[in-house]
Amino acid sequence: MTFDEDELLPLSGVQHLVFCERQAALIHTEGAWADNALTVEGSYRHRRVHDAAPRRERRGDVIVVRGLSLRSFEFGLSGAADVVEFRLLADHDRPGQSGGPPRGVRLPNASGLWGPFPVEYKRGRPKAHRADEVQLCAQALCLEEMLGVHIAAGALFYGKEQRRVPVEFEPELRALTRAAAYRLHELVENGETPAAAKGKKCRSCSLAAVCVPEAMSRRCSAKRFVAAEINRCLCLESDRF
Ligand code: SF4
Repeated sequence: MTFDEDELLPLSGVQHLVFCERQAALIHTEGAWADNALTVEGSYRHRRVHDAAPRRERRGDVIVVRGLSLRSFEFGLSGAADVVEFRLLADHDRPGQSGGPPRGVRLPNASGLWGPFPVEYKRGRPKAHRADEVQLCAQALCLEEMLGVHIAAGALFYGKEQRRVPVEFEPELRALTRAAAYRLHELVENGETPAAAKGKKCRSCSLAAVCVPEAMSRRCSAKRFVAAEINRCLCLESDRF
């Protein structure tokens, strides 16, 4: 399956989808977005990564590129990477010597082959769910398609702990990411908003006020809920006259 340019959905959508299908639908189908303290802090960290540092810099055998545009027609996703580190490959990693697809690319004004290693900045701490890993893996899938290379690993940087967590793009994570991308497209194409499944995740969800998980346990869109609420209030008002 391949997607056209105008069918591409934001890369962040796969993260929303793995966190909560309803949240993904509210954002990507219904266009709802609400900031909470967590998303504001997250945006601030992303801005710092993109604005405060040069777009490209070399640190020894690593070339750091910030804000690289990404897209995949196979998975129907587009967006930007916080950071992609291109690491100078050793001789045994060069094409034709290790077997399989190439692991590195040539870069302007730099000799040798460079292996891409995506790094995504996150607020908070590592989480029990795999949403962050899926978002990073989606970036790797985009890079693989764009550059024609295989990427074995990347890293998530967590602000609260100020540390990197390595992420290996193993087959199970790739399959989860692929499934999340296709499911996101299915939801958007069908205009479907799954019912709320209230849980621990709702406590950190920026859309809790829009979603109203207590009230939205039936399959119902937030727009329909708001319309019903407005009708209910209008009826109450008219009863007074
Ligand atoms: S409040 Fe809960 S059910 Fe509703 S979108 Fe957020 S995480 Fe999903």
